[in-house]
Formats: sequence, C-alpha cells, structure tokens
Amino acid sequence: MERKMSYGNISRQSGRRYQLMLRRKRFRFLIICAAVVAVIAVVVGISVSSVKNGQTEQEEASADAVPAATPKPAPQIPPASEQNNLLKIAEDAAGREGKACYLTFDDGPTNTVTPAILDVLKQYNVKATFFMLGNMIEKNKDIARRVYDEGHLLANHTYSHDYKALYATGESFIGEVEKTEGLIREVTGEEPFKLVRFPGGSYNAGDHAAEKQKYKTLLQEKGYYYVDWNALNGDAESSSRTAEQLLARMKETAGKDHIVVLMHDAAAKKSTAQALPSIIEYLKSAGYEFYRLDQIKYYETVEEEDKPASMIM
Ligand SMILES: [Zn+2]
Repeated sequence: MERKMSYGNISRQSGRRYQLMLRRKRFRFLIICAAVVAVIAVVVGISVSSVKNGQTEQEEASADAVPAATPKPAPQIPPASEQNNLLKIAEDAAGREGKACYLTFDDGPTNTVTPAILDVLKQYNVKATFFMLGNMIEKNKDIARRVYDEGHLLANHTYSHDYKALYATGESFIGEVEKTEGLIREVTGEEPFKLVRFPGGSYNAGDHAAEKQKYKTLLQEKGYYYVDWNALNGDAESSSRTAEQLLARMKETAGKDHIVVLMHDAAAKKSTAQALPSIIEYLKSAGYEFYRLDQIKYYETVEEEDKPASMIM
C-alpha cells in the first residue's frame, strides 16, 4: 500500500509537473510569437516611413528641379589653355543664381593670424582660398595642413614674394611657382589646383609689368590659372588699419555680383582676423554666398546658333 500510494503520489506529482511544463512551453511560445510580431511591425513601419520620406524628397526635388527640356550642364570652367585669367572666368560665370564671394588670404600661412582666421571661417561655415608662400609653408606646415583639413583651397603665391628675384627671369618665376606647388602637394597629399596669384597683382602697370604679361603666357603653357581681385578690405594699404576701417573699405569695394576679395593672413594683419566676422556678416546680408576659387559655377549657356555671326569662326 505504502508503495502504491507512493507510486500514486509520484505519478500525480509528475502529472502536475508535466502540465506545468506544458503551460511554460505555451507561455514561451506566446512570448516568442509576440516578439516576432513586434519585430515585423517595427520593420514594416520603418520601410513605410522611408518610402514616404523618399516620396516627399523626390516631390520636393522635382518641384525645385529645372525643367527637363533645358538641363544645365555640369559647372565646368574653361581649361587654362583657353582662358587662364580666373578673375575673368569668375566675373563671366553665367547661369549662377545670386551673388558669389570668393574670400582670399595672401602671404601666409602664419602661426598667429592664420589660426584666428580659420576659427572665424569655421564659426561661419565659410570656405576660402589661401594664397600661400612656399617659404611660409616650410615654416608653418602644421598650419598649412590645418587650412587643408578644414576644407579651404591652398593656392600658389610663389616661394619668396621678393619681386626682384621672383620676376627676374621666366625661369626664376616658374621655378618659384613649381617649388611652392611641390610644397602644397606635400602638405595635402593631392595634386594641387593650378592657381597662382602674382605678388603685387598681374596688372600691366608699375614695376615688372612687362615681365608679368610674359609670365601669364608661361603659366598658361604650363596649365596654370592666375587670379587678381575686384574687391578688398584694404589691409595692405596701410599697416595700421582698424577692424572698422577694414569693414568700411570692404563695403566700399564690394560692388559686383561676383567678387574676389583680397585680404592677408601675414603675421602683422591681426585686424584682418578681427574684422572678419563683421565682413562675413555684411557680405551675407548683401546676399553673397561663399565659395573657394576652384568652385566657380560656370555654365556655358551661349549656344552656337545664339552667338552673333561675327563670333562664329
Ligand atoms: Zn602677397
């Protein structure tokens, strides 16, 4: 009896255990089902919302898009072999909506003024072009590297800036340009945009005017653009300009729709960095957008048949 009873107890106990196990299994199964349903719901939800987003993006894009009948070609400036005066290219840039400003800084990099200018440009999310001297790159490679890392264009202002040595012969001029190009290549690890600014400008006046005109052709033969300026802050006109005076000079000279602005990041030009926030704010309020000089949006919009007969060769 005792045995039977104990057997009976055992079988009753194991029966209960079995039912408990079944219940647990069912419960686990329900949990897994619920989890699977939840995952499916999330996945479907995400894909539906991304399709919706895609649709609105497409709709917005197509609302802004140029009609299919008149597609704009990719912005591409003429090759230097055709036209190597980049100021002329910027001023002629057709098809651009609005006003364009190219801020340029010459004679650096320096470990005093260049970082201050970079801080301001970063604060306003403005990209600019730095015409660097080879001998200054050698002294401040880390600063030159920072200019590059922060998305600005490194361009060529020759090696020495010493007019007498630089402009002495075609060989001395091209030699300084190529030496500086090598230093820019070393800093950026990239093939440089071939752009030179003549120390003192390329104008056909003053000292070395005749040589400069010949060197423009030399540059063209070697695939370089050169660029002067059509606006400035006047920081080279006197050594003691205040930030207020620089802003006033900027306002005075920013007349055209496309402006290439001459400024300097040489060690003595501290007020250039001080004036830069107010200059950027002024130019923004005047409707300018900022670009690097290798970002000119140039569209060849004049069709052959639209040109006057005299222009067709
Ligand atoms: Zn200079």
